[in-house]
Amino acid sequence: LDRSYGSSARRKRAWVVVNPHAGPGGADKIWRKQVKPIFDAARMPMTVVRTTYSGEAVKLAQELNIDDFDIAVPCSGDGLPHEVFNGLGQRPDARRALSKIAVCHIPCGSGNAMSCNLYGTHRPTLAALAIVKGLPTPLDLISVTQGTKRTLSFLSQALGMIADLDITTEHLRWMGPHRFTYGFLVLALQKKVYPCDIAIKAEIEHKDGVKEHYRKQVTQKGPSQSPQQSDDDDDGDQGLPPLKYGTATDKLPEGWELVPHEKLGSFYCGNMAYMAPDANFFAAALSNDGLMDLVMTDGDIPVLKNIGLQLAMDSGHFFDSPLVTYRKVSAYRIIPRIPDAKCCISIDGEAFPWEPFQAEVHQGLGLTLSK
Ligand code: ADP
Ligand code: MG
Repeated sequence: LDRSYGSSARRKRAWVVVNPHAGPGGADKIWRKQVKPIFDAARMPMTVVRTTYSGEAVKLAQELNIDDFDIAVPCSGDGLPHEVFNGLGQRPDARRALSKIAVCHIPCGSGNAMSCNLYGTHRPTLAALAIVKGLPTPLDLISVTQGTKRTLSFLSQALGMIADLDITTEHLRWMGPHRFTYGFLVLALQKKVYPCDIAIKAEIEHKDGVKEHYRKQVTQKGPSQSPQQSDDDDDGDQGLPPLKYGTATDKLPEGWELVPHEKLGSFYCGNMAYMAPDANFFAAALSNDGLMDLVMTDGDIPVLKNIGLQLAMDSGHFFDSPLVTYRKVSAYRIIPRIPDAKCCISIDGEAFPWEPFQAEVHQGLGLTLSK
């Protein structure tokens, strides 16, 4: 699916960041044996750093000399691209940094959604080749606020079963992707519900409308509109775009309505189609349509139906299941009703506190490379 804006550049200057802790722990070797030889053959100028603690890539991206590089190449799971986007987003020149440095991905983690979406593979060598040939492609980024803390999300926000899945299987890292299958079975058996109040700024409410939107967008070459250029670019302010709807602590924006969801099982909002190699979770997601794709399911559905739902993802029938609601949205607020020390919010697969949050999308704020 070509949604690129640019053509391929030669000898992209790469800032490579290796997370030795990613997935089962082979990122160093993958970089050395499978990726570096390909970048060398393409005569890409490279600077390589290794992270030594969680969060270091945020700091490194914040201090990066962006004029020296064209692309950032995390060798990791989805955690490091998340950190790099946030580091770039915390700079005084955030907007320039986010539109100058194309954030790419070499899949080395247990969650490698980014490369599955951009290059159609979770094999490091194929991802490396795709990066060498890659086309600059704007990427929607989502501001998520909890209290006054603002985080950029490039992939997903989740709470309920799917979020708990990611976080409760953290100690099973050695299993690789199988940790998610195991975790799913454990949680489906519990039929857990997560009562929440949710306000949604929905742009397309019904599945037929979503399908129509998707069909129209993919039959066009490239995106329908160029990303919004904010009016205040002129005054030299290059920080992140202002929040249109404030934060979860502000009064509810006009026209929004908080609706109770007593039986919520999973709340899952995505920006790209694949969440794992065999999980086309957001069948109608597009990476720069300026919209997020929101999927909700109830938690009290029978275990076998729940398993059937997961299997339907492989066959592409997940989207059509009556057990699934699917909308295109531009913003939302979600307030968990019941405090629970064991639950968490997952943003791009990273754990955040079980507290109200609000999200809004910024069309094409980030940059990546796609095939
Ligand atoms: P995975 O897909 O296996 O979770 P990620 O790249 O997403 O792999 O990384 C998992 C976590 O490791 C992230 O939260 C990231 O912040 C953290 N991390 C990064 N570098 C290090 C390090 N050197 N030591 C420990 N944790 C790290
Ligand atoms: Mg989108």
